[in-house]
Amino acid sequence: MGVILPTYRRREGGDDMDTLVLSAVYQPMRYVDWKEAFCLWFSGRVEVVEFHTDKFINTVSEKFNIPSIIRFIKRVNNKSGKSKSAKFSRANILLRDNGECQYCRTKLDKKNFTFDHIIPVSQGGKTNWKNIVSCCKECNQKKGNRTLLSASMRLIKEPYVPDSYEIYNKSISKRPFPEELGFRLLQ
Ligand SMILES: [Zn+2]
Repeated sequence: MGVILPTYRRREGGDDMDTLVLSAVYQPMRYVDWKEAFCLWFSGRVEVVEFHTDKFINTVSEKFNIPSIIRFIKRVNNKSGKSKSAKFSRANILLRDNGECQYCRTKLDKKNFTFDHIIPVSQGGKTNWKNIVSCCKECNQKKGNRTLLSASMRLIKEPYVPDSYEIYNKSISKRPFPEELGFRLLQ
């Protein structure tokens, strides 16, 4: 279908078997490897937009083309057609922020992971989705008890309230691929 994506960043260590993930409105979200792509596909949350024509995996009985582009299928969560906000929790903040420091994009792990109140609590800042971001220790120390302005720091994106659909999809794509399904890569 000829989606052109000139500027989208490939995943680290990615290769030409990667699958591009689009949102329900065809917005490029990220690249995933073929395992994640199949995980998402079999979860029923995405549809395949395009396949790699020359790349396959096979099971005992079947051969599957690896998707080159997949797209989330919009899910209606309730009668009004609007999705629910995700639960405000540490794990979900990290998922919303893609596991990255929201000041310097450092990948966060247990050792360097903190939260930052964008407007400090001492200045009336609240503990909610709009005022909390994932942050590395270094940036947190650098910012200290200051506002963005006085610390001359800048967020990589505006914090927002994610819906439960987004958080669910982000959490499912982080799960390890079930090798016991018996897939292996055809070289
Ligand atoms: Zn940082």
